[in-house]
Amino acid sequence: MDFSASERTRDISERVKAFFDAELLPRHREWANWVGTQAGSPPWLDGLRDKARQLGLWNLALADLAIDEPGTRLSNQEFGAAAETMGRLPWASEVFNCHAPDTPNMITLQHAGTPEQKAQWLRPLLEGRIRSAFAMTEPAVGSSDATNLQFSMRRDGQDYVLNGSKWYCSGASHPRCRFLIVMGATDPAAARNQRHSAVIVPSDTPGLKIVRDLRFMGLQNPTSAASQLEFSDVRVPVSNLLGQEGQGFKVAQTRLGPARIHHCMRALGSAEVLIELMMARASERQTFGRVLADYDTVQRWIAESRIEVEQARLLVQRAAWLLDRDGHAGAWRDVSIIKVVVPRMVQGIADRAVQVFGAMGGSDDTPIHSIFAHMRAMRIADGPDEVHLRQIFRMENKPGWSVADSPYNTPFEV
Ligand SMILES: Cc1cc2nc3c(=O)[nH]c(=O)nc-3n(C[C@H](O)[C@H](O)[C@H](O)COP(=O)(O)OP(=O)(O)OC[C@H]3O[C@@H](n4cnc5c(N)ncnc54)[C@H](O)[C@@H]3O)c2cc1C
Repeated sequence: MDFSASERTRDISERVKAFFDAELLPRHREWANWVGTQAGSPPWLDGLRDKARQLGLWNLALADLAIDEPGTRLSNQEFGAAAETMGRLPWASEVFNCHAPDTPNMITLQHAGTPEQKAQWLRPLLEGRIRSAFAMTEPAVGSSDATNLQFSMRRDGQDYVLNGSKWYCSGASHPRCRFLIVMGATDPAAARNQRHSAVIVPSDTPGLKIVRDLRFMGLQNPTSAASQLEFSDVRVPVSNLLGQEGQGFKVAQTRLGPARIHHCMRALGSAEVLIELMMARASERQTFGRVLADYDTVQRWIAESRIEVEQARLLVQRAAWLLDRDGHAGAWRDVSIIKVVVPRMVQGIADRAVQVFGAMGGSDDTPIHSIFAHMRAMRIADGPDEVHLRQIFRMENKPGWSVADSPYNTPFEV
């Protein structure tokens, strides 16, 4: 097995890293001070986005762009190293137009959008002129089972009329958010997997209200705050339907694989930051006459973190390779595996990092606690761990298991 990247992939990944080191990292404190005190992104962010685009480092994670659409056209597997670099800072993905939920929404529109929908919504997203959100989760029902969704989308002539509540919709209150992909029940009486549809709802449609922005474990995502939304008789034309009526889950499925894989890739970048921070702190902080790095316990925490990251990276690369080769049907088991492995692993490393840093580890002076909280959220968002574990178990569970019939057992015969 050849683990080396192609020349093109290596070149792009190195250019992303060079741009990141030269242009983003030196501004991180400025960015943090801005989002800590003011709404939205600092005004200079657009300048960096323009530069990234001019350098050809734009929409890296979209392999299937049309000839006239802007982007670098990497496969999911090829995107890995660049995504890790972006995962080092919470705002880096946006500079390269590779951030969630926009990239997954672009993929949804690529697969399910009509030519008119693509011209109106996909094109400006690809250009980075607008942003979008995805509204599936509802406060009133257990949304890890998406067939529970009660949000009403009633057909009325040439419109759908939308009523209900959604929450934890990342990016919905962003000043540039222009539309949402909303999941709801178009036929509540149909079979569970045919009740729901996906429609495009422009953000300024009358009757759509942002109730509040939510925090998770006391933190708000500064690049894509998660909002609670109320829909009261919101009307959208039937032409805003994505794909077929009743096929909402099929439409949503196209975004799930890439969305989860890209999150995991970025999380590996966060893990690398945590290891670097632990090394730095352990090398200079002293107790009882020794630096922390001299203690076996600390050495072991860091070495175990390294092993776990390397293991997880291999799993992520394989899942990405499978998704590129076989699509969702061939990759979903491996995507579920990494969706469980990676956030748990990075959360564990963040926990060690808090310990190595002592009190400072929980302060706002390091990113450790926000990485911890982000990983904790990842274990729920995009499907909680337990739902993925259930899917993985089902793949193991073939009919007819029998201990007596197992050729590996050697019962003693008298
Ligand atoms: C930071 C953040 C951002 C988010 N962004 C978005 C977004 O942009 N758009 C959006 O629509 N949603 C978003 N979500 C919501 C997220 O996708 C849902 O929270 C998730 O799908 C779980 O749904 P729920 O909260 O209703 O949990 P519930 O369905 O109520 O489940 C609660 C718990 O029940 C357990 N459980 C559920 N099913 C099983 C099972 N089969 N076996 C064993 N245990 C089980 C699990 O432990 C689970 O955590 C976001 C969430 C967070 C935290």
